[in-house]
Amino acid sequence: MDALNALPAIEALPLYGGRKASASLDIIVVGAGLGGLSTAFCLAQAGHNVAVVEATTSLGEVGAGIQISPNVTRLLFRWGLKDELTKVVVEPSGVSFRRYLTGELVGRTLWGNRMLQDHDAPYYHIHRADYQQLLYRLVKPWIKVHWNSRVTFADPTHISITLQNGETLVADMIIGADGIKSKLRETVAGCTGRPVPTGDAAYRAVIPTEQMHNDPDLKHLVDETEMAIWMGPKKHVVGYCLRAKKEYNLVMLHPDEHTGQASSESWTAEASVEQMRNEFVGWEPRVQKLLGMVKSTLNWKLLDRDPLDRWVHENGRIALMGDACHPMLPYRAQGAAMATEDAITLGVLFSHITDRTQIGPLLHAYQRLRHARATTCQLDSRMNQRNYHLEDGPEQEARDAAMREVMSIELL
Ligand code: FAD
Repeated sequence: MDALNALPAIEALPLYGGRKASASLDIIVVGAGLGGLSTAFCLAQAGHNVAVVEATTSLGEVGAGIQISPNVTRLLFRWGLKDELTKVVVEPSGVSFRRYLTGELVGRTLWGNRMLQDHDAPYYHIHRADYQQLLYRLVKPWIKVHWNSRVTFADPTHISITLQNGETLVADMIIGADGIKSKLRETVAGCTGRPVPTGDAAYRAVIPTEQMHNDPDLKHLVDETEMAIWMGPKKHVVGYCLRAKKEYNLVMLHPDEHTGQASSESWTAEASVEQMRNEFVGWEPRVQKLLGMVKSTLNWKLLDRDPLDRWVHENGRIALMGDACHPMLPYRAQGAAMATEDAITLGVLFSHITDRTQIGPLLHAYQRLRHARATTCQLDSRMNQRNYHLEDGPEQEARDAAMREVMSIELL
């Protein structure tokens, strides 16, 4: 770790200072997801030559919403995206938790100005396609993207990757941002196993709010801009507004084995709307009405992995980030958020590099800085699977009573 001693203490590093490293590295980032694009931007801003290698032929723009919490909006503002973001996001006023059969409110937390007061940054809801486009436009001038370039092999001895067309690319350092089914993870940590199904799947749909305005039961969901969560046994439904409140995003979490047709691991696989509605028969009228407006739906199998001890290859030149090393259930809405925090950490650390011998120590410093927080998020997300999906009975009643007590001040 001697090379690290030449660097300023980690606590003294600016969160994002636009500082340029005195040694410029050739870096390959594998994957152009939200994590890979953010990493490419941060490393390019730190003065490095970055190439992104992506298996698909263009940006994977999935028709679904995503939540971005203040730990991320704060960073996106520093990257100069404030104005662009405000054009496409919705700022939710808070979140409400309801019982699935009656719609009775058991908890409400107000966000809005409080987010700014407590965290100095807002909470946003955004369409995934808009978010990915924004990041891509931001990073495009600084990097080279190799589309349609699936990595089939990573060679830790020569710090190279081989693409499916046989081409080999060499770099000083490689970052695996290739998602939950990461190829680079096999190289870095020797894990050849597949991700573990969590027993849950997520139906996803976006509906126009035009129809909701005409229904007095649904109008307030748009007017109040509050994220709504209905909790029931083994299932929950999340709804929130997108794109200047013109669209409403629905996520319907349900047990995977009950779908009849196996849910797909792809993020673009269409599923049966009728089957989706059948999963939520008997839920309170607003849920029935919302699902009645859905014209088409995707069904995502929710996969997971146990926390990984090693994010950095023993040669100190290849590392993982985002879902490649810490995939998590979406029940805390922090998967992409953790990937963004990984990206800024890499960017800040590598803005201080002065020679190549520091690559290994800096990658290990990155893992040390990020591992505990990302692992906690992974495990807490699993805990929420249980909390949200309690069966009817004493445990569920105790959960609701606790929520009423904790959040009572904010109930209307
Ligand atoms: P990915 O987005 O999976 O990107 C990996 C990229 O690598 C892809 O483009 C892929 O094509 C490419 N790739 C893969 N293999 C190769 C290869 N061999 N060669 C080249 N390229 C390759 N997170 C939040 O923060 N907030 C939310 O509200 C939220 N909601 C969610 C809702 C659901 C239902 C789900 C399932 C997840 C949610 N998440 C949320 C989590 C978030 O989507 C992920 O954590 C995030 O997208 C991970 O980004 P990534 O870049 O690490 O991986």
